[in-house]
Amino acid sequence: MRGRRGPPTLALPTRVRETRVGAKRGKVFWFFSSEKNFFVVFRLLLEISSLEAGYGSVQVLWGVDLQMSPGIACLIGANGVGKTTLLRTLSGLLPARAGTIRFCGESLEALRADEILARGVAHVPEGRRLFASLSVEDNLLMGAYQTRSGAKRGLARAYDLFPRLKERRRQDAATLSGGEQQMCAIARGLMSEPRLLLIDELSLGLAPRLVDELAASLRGLPTLGTSVLLVEQDVATALDLAAEGFVLDRGVVTLSGPASALATDARVREAYLGI
Ligand code: ATP
Repeated sequence: MRGRRGPPTLALPTRVRETRVGAKRGKVFWFFSSEKNFFVVFRLLLEISSLEAGYGSVQVLWGVDLQMSPGIACLIGANGVGKTTLLRTLSGLLPARAGTIRFCGESLEALRADEILARGVAHVPEGRRLFASLSVEDNLLMGAYQTRSGAKRGLARAYDLFPRLKERRRQDAATLSGGEQQMCAIARGLMSEPRLLLIDELSLGLAPRLVDELAASLRGLPTLGTSVLLVEQDVATALDLAAEGFVLDRGVVTLSGPASALATDARVREAYLGI
């Protein structure tokens, strides 16, 4: 690495194609790409343009435009406006019908879900979808996807983030509390060391104290190189956790900006905070 121009780099594990080596500076961040053998500089993590998607004859997304910087962002909106559909389209579970999705400069809209995961976008679906009869550790390993060393690193990171999962690692997922199941689902999403984690409904069915605990764990993820796009019904929690936010209404983004600005916006307060 010595002599190469650019920010100082880290020794890269062989399986890691690119790694984030620079802290965000303003809106610029960079990765060292071992494929291109070059530092790649981006202003935006995710750029979505005119994205359309739906189910059969039902069109749900009608031209979503969204630009996300690295960090934590939230997507808020009323029931049925297409938040889950947008996350499913980003992770390749649902095909895009039109429009573009650029992630760290790469186009994702035509890729399969496994190809998108390989590029660093992981999805924690609504309802957690754990394998009930498998242990916590086996559930986590299902998310590892790569090498044994990657799995080992992923487990260490998961147990560091959620020590309670380490205590319960041999327990069947079915016997976990709701909060622990959500921890397990998030930790499974992190096993592939994604650059972007999509989380659908963090707080669903959880007591406020547990939601606070989960939110505290998520806050540190961007410094570990993982940004988060969070879909959340609890708008106050979402705007408190996120640096930026997007409001989705009937399949289009109608409002976006710093989360602190959205939290004081009269339209958001009236429609989503009941103030
Ligand atoms: P919520 O906050 O209630 O979870 P949402 O904003 O996440 O809602 P989606 O789950 O994306 O909304 O659903 C958007 C629309 O798409 C809804 O009208 C829903 O009924 C419809 N929809 C979702 N999944 C399917 C499906 N598999 N087949 C047909 N229509 C679907």
